[in-house]
Amino acid sequence: MNIEPRIAAIHQDMIRWRRDIHAHPELGFEEERTAAIVAEKLREFGCEVTTGIAKTGVVGTIRVGNSPASVGLRADMDCLPMQETNTFAHASKHPGRMHACGHDGHTTMLLGAAKYLAETRNFQGTVHLIFQPAEEGGGGGRVMVEEGLFQKFPCDAIFAMHNRPSLPVGQFAIRPGPMLAGGCRFEIRIKGKGAHGARPETGIDPVLVAAHIVGAAQTIVSRTTSPHEPVVVSFTQIHAGDAYNVIPERAVLRGTIRCYSNAVREQVTTALARVAREVAAAFGAEAEPDIRPGYPPLVNDAKEAAFMADVAVSLVGEENVQRNGPRVMGSEDFSYMLEAVPGAFILSGQGGGHSGTLGGCELHNPGYDFNDDLLPLGATLFARVVEAKLAPKSA
Ligand SMILES: [Zn+2]
Ligand SMILES: [Zn+2]
Repeated sequence: MNIEPRIAAIHQDMIRWRRDIHAHPELGFEEERTAAIVAEKLREFGCEVTTGIAKTGVVGTIRVGNSPASVGLRADMDCLPMQETNTFAHASKHPGRMHACGHDGHTTMLLGAAKYLAETRNFQGTVHLIFQPAEEGGGGGRVMVEEGLFQKFPCDAIFAMHNRPSLPVGQFAIRPGPMLAGGCRFEIRIKGKGAHGARPETGIDPVLVAAHIVGAAQTIVSRTTSPHEPVVVSFTQIHAGDAYNVIPERAVLRGTIRCYSNAVREQVTTALARVAREVAAAFGAEAEPDIRPGYPPLVNDAKEAAFMADVAVSLVGEENVQRNGPRVMGSEDFSYMLEAVPGAFILSGQGGGHSGTLGGCELHNPGYDFNDDLLPLGATLFARVVEAKLAPKSA
């Protein structure tokens, strides 16, 4: 692995920063301590620092020369509302809060790159180091974009990475076009007519209506959208009734939609609302669908994805970079930034974590820990992306 020696030299510092953040996890838009540490370090490295974007977001800026070219790098800072089961010294000190997605590692890798870039300044142009709040459901990326992130800090291209436990350290996966799914969450409220369980002819059964909606909605995937477009419609909750002998008055269905384009999402949303209303009507009931968009699909710019893959290859070799890696049905709010500015998102292998980690190392698992071995490689990738994108033009 071609790790930058100046970054390798701060590996122990980075481990210390990472474990400190891990031990003090903060939920979305509450990353006060983390943001303060990030801002303090960026100032110490010599970056211009802007705080308070999307509440706790921080941007560090490094300018070299007067080239108008610019590039953005993004990391996320928030934790998850869950209890950590690890017992090592840097385990969460806050009950019910945990860095189980490795955002402590992402933040640290971007800090490592910031230190190196600010010291060496081996590029021409401007780099914006974007530390965002609330990736885990709060849409901090969206709020930053809405608050004028790219007007205040214009970027020609923007890049981010996420750790990937199923790949070993030293391997990367990326792909052009849609890479992570977009989604919606939905609730369908069904109103029937309550009755005695023995006298169905006097009521309208919302449980039967709910069952038909659940079945009919699966035909949206098989009959309404193209077989070439992956779509998931999952009903994850059904709530109705309290007694054996009462046909309830109401039923509620909840669930999620996942797909890889906004057009398909629109199509599925419209179809689900229609199926719910019309199926209910066929039984003499009423359905009120409430479908709310979640994060949009994450779509890599083809050119920038190829560029980022080339940079990764320069570090670990062609055989360790999947240029056409698998799509992921999970979501990421970096997608909002990629809707505003072309760029790419890469998955960085982090393997099973360091020894001592309990219960496996899957993301969002209570035994998860970010693998410190990835810190210098990830920081080097960020740094090389900037140096390659903003390479000084030879005279
Ligand atoms: Zn996560
Ligand atoms: Zn994450």
